Amino acid sequence: MTVFCATSNPGKLREFLLAARCFAAGQIHIQVLHGLASLPPCAESGSTFQENAAQKALHYSSFASGLVFVDDSGLIVPALEGQPGIRSARFAGEGASDADNNWLLLEKLATVQDRRAVFVCVIALAEQGRLLATFQGEVGGIILDQPRGLGGFGYDPLFFYPPLAATFAELSPEQKLHVSHRGVALRKMMDFLLANASRPGLE
Ligand code: IMP
Repeated sequence: MTVFCATSNPGKLREFLLAARCFAAGQIHIQVLHGLASLPPCAESGSTFQENAAQKALHYSSFASGLVFVDDSGLIVPALEGQPGIRSARFAGEGASDADNNWLLLEKLATVQDRRAVFVCVIALAEQGRLLATFQGEVGGIILDQPRGLGGFGYDPLFFYPPLAATFAELSPEQKLHVSHRGVALRKMMDFLLANASRPGLE
């Protein structure tokens, strides 16, 4: 079964491909939606990960003939009233780099004691402008006061995961996938796809 993803984030894409190998034993093939870069961008005007994921899935799937999924994800820091939240990719402004966003997060937390944070991922699956399902994953951790590790992407070098005593950037891709918000959501989507493989449109 082939499923198309609508992402231009190489970090997310690597995790999607790894999930297909780890969770679906090669029965699901993931490809980037053809011509994604030239499609009109999606507005993303929702106020939750769920709303934005559904909006993007409906939008991009209307340009394709098969199954399309999107990932809307980010970091919630309760001590910052939920920031960066749905603005995680552009926390430090439009076009901000991961490093810019990480430095802003450190700056905002400089005098804050409560360093708890939660990564959230919502994956929405759609077909030709019709939403089929959404899948959510979350993982809790602690924001360090300086980056550690070279793997992953985004806020991974600051996100310390106590059960493995490492930041997400210090874990192998497989280790991160097995515990991360995205790994949890992707596993749910793969289970759904495999369980419904005989339904029209999903074969
Ligand atoms: P989106 O493309 O609007 O979903 O933005 C996602 C943003 O959230 C990314 O650009 C990262 O800043 C952050 N993010 C989401 N998932 C992860 C992750 O697994 N590790 C680190 N940062 C993440």
